[in-house]
Amino acid sequence: MKIPVCLSVLILLATSFNLPAGGPAMAEFDLVIMGGRIVDGTGNPWYEADIGISDGKIVEIGRIDPQRANEVIYAQGLIVSPGFIDVHTHIESGIEKNPNAENFLMMGVTSVITGNCGSSALNLDEWLTRISGPGIGVNVASLVGHNTIRREAMGGDFNRPPRPDELDRMKELVDRAMRAGAVGLSTGLEYVPGMWATTDEIAELARVAASYGGVYATHMRDEGEFIEKSVAEAIAIGEKAKIPVEISHFKISSKKRWGASAASIRMVEEARENGIQVTVDQYLYPASSTGIGILFTSWVFDGGRDKLEERLRDANTRDRIRRDVIEKAKAQGFNDLSFAYIASYESDPSFNGRNLAEITLAKKGRKEIEAQADLAIEILQAGGASMILRKMSDEDVERIFRQPFTMVASDAGVMSWDDKSVPHPRGFGNNARALGLYVREKKIVSLPEAIRRMTSLPAQTFRLWDRGLIRPGMAADLVIFDENAVRDLATFEKPKTFPVGIDYVIVNGRKAVERSQYSHTNAGVILRGSAKKVESANEVTAAERALRVRDERIFTRFNMLKREKEAGLINADRYIAALRALREDEMKLFEDAKNVRFNNMTEHEYWHRSRLKSLSLIIQELQMIERK
Ligand SMILES: [Zn+2]
Repeated sequence: MKIPVCLSVLILLATSFNLPAGGPAMAEFDLVIMGGRIVDGTGNPWYEADIGISDGKIVEIGRIDPQRANEVIYAQGLIVSPGFIDVHTHIESGIEKNPNAENFLMMGVTSVITGNCGSSALNLDEWLTRISGPGIGVNVASLVGHNTIRREAMGGDFNRPPRPDELDRMKELVDRAMRAGAVGLSTGLEYVPGMWATTDEIAELARVAASYGGVYATHMRDEGEFIEKSVAEAIAIGEKAKIPVEISHFKISSKKRWGASAASIRMVEEARENGIQVTVDQYLYPASSTGIGILFTSWVFDGGRDKLEERLRDANTRDRIRRDVIEKAKAQGFNDLSFAYIASYESDPSFNGRNLAEITLAKKGRKEIEAQADLAIEILQAGGASMILRKMSDEDVERIFRQPFTMVASDAGVMSWDDKSVPHPRGFGNNARALGLYVREKKIVSLPEAIRRMTSLPAQTFRLWDRGLIRPGMAADLVIFDENAVRDLATFEKPKTFPVGIDYVIVNGRKAVERSQYSHTNAGVILRGSAKKVESANEVTAAERALRVRDERIFTRFNMLKREKEAGLINADRYIAALRALREDEMKLFEDAKNVRFNNMTEHEYWHRSRLKSLSLIIQELQMIERK
């Protein structure tokens, strides 16, 4: 509780009533973190200061008398950073069962963005309100999922473009979600029914998200063989819809294409050079996790569950499905299915943690890929399983992590303890693994840089303006950790293991993790996007804007030339020649300005009332030189 009295009144009260100054009831700060090394999220190196927190916000940074605080954390020798923002999560299925979300808190994550890979709550407003009711451990923002709305708008018949009324319905659903505070649109183009959507359909919907300042986050159509094609599509959607693009779990997941991250990263860089805002996120493991459906070709799922079962009952179709599974694996450079591990299989939990080759050998005494593919079909038929796929190379993972636009994100959900699943360890270890293995041991990036990519970069990308930095006024989401001890302990065999070295996690000013133990403070809040339409009525057209950009360059060049002349860097002849060339440019610009139809009154005034009518500065300068 903050007590709104200024310091002088406080001292006056203390002296006149002879109370001990700064006793708990008089404290200015709920919490003060003393003497930590602050790595503030900008990428700057650490500095030492105390942080005063009140009412969930950082209110003071500097030297703070501990007497002024209700509670003090002594953080000497420890790093104090902003709370980590995990931009790629799937909390929909777990948050209501386990609202505290300790697997996120214990690795330093204080905010998550969910609704990824095309899958979100359909009615976001209702869902966000519901989950926050009993209190939540972490702050939550959500995207709206394309698969979710496509399913809603098109019913069960997906393998086609939407009819105009269905597309309108989808746009309406995106609009409703954005008005409820969604931070953007997500796609999962490797999944049903998004896999049947065209680039244009997605761009149409992304335009709606863009009109509210949202982001387009995409699980691309393919992350292996056709990686370049997928990245090109993501960039094209960014360009068409004028929307920032976030490529989810950026990776190379085909053995045949290992090393191709050099090319895919180059594409992101080029897009950025061309003015398209593209960023990526990544989990720091050479293995992915998804449903067993990913081993099959898409036609198998066409028409829904009934159709699938019908196909699996037919011997000939089943043969074809088996051949496709084998071909798909071989096309990615795998000679058997030993890369595919069962994470969770309800029909037989003894499969959990083992790969399809091992299980086939143990259960059927057979080693051929055909028998392994049969097993995959049997598992699919029995309701499916979640899988861990060891398909990536360390080299690609590291190269992606080196890029300044790469964020650290887990792709995980809220975990529970009472099931027998063996999930991907990223849900327990990802951020600690970044700090321990990738910063301290492998030295891929520096500590301040890694922290920047877990804090201010995600906040900037998803426009969480009051988070991701340590500054007065920002939300008090903080992590206090030992840079020499922080380490992930979760493994593929024993994934449900918390990391070590993270001492405190503060969410909105309250201790969610204390001395490395989580509590149930449930201090998280819902982070809603602006829900405001970006003004477009008076928008300056691209043509109008291009004219002004050229005009700015001419003025700047003119001023530079004058300064170079005065400084004696160019002689009179070269100066005059350069001025004449610049005047040519200006004349061309004026010609173009006369031919543009201005939609914007301000621009119209600028060109027709002033710029085109007044005497050019370049001409004035040339006339002055001639007179001399
Ligand atoms: Zn995904």
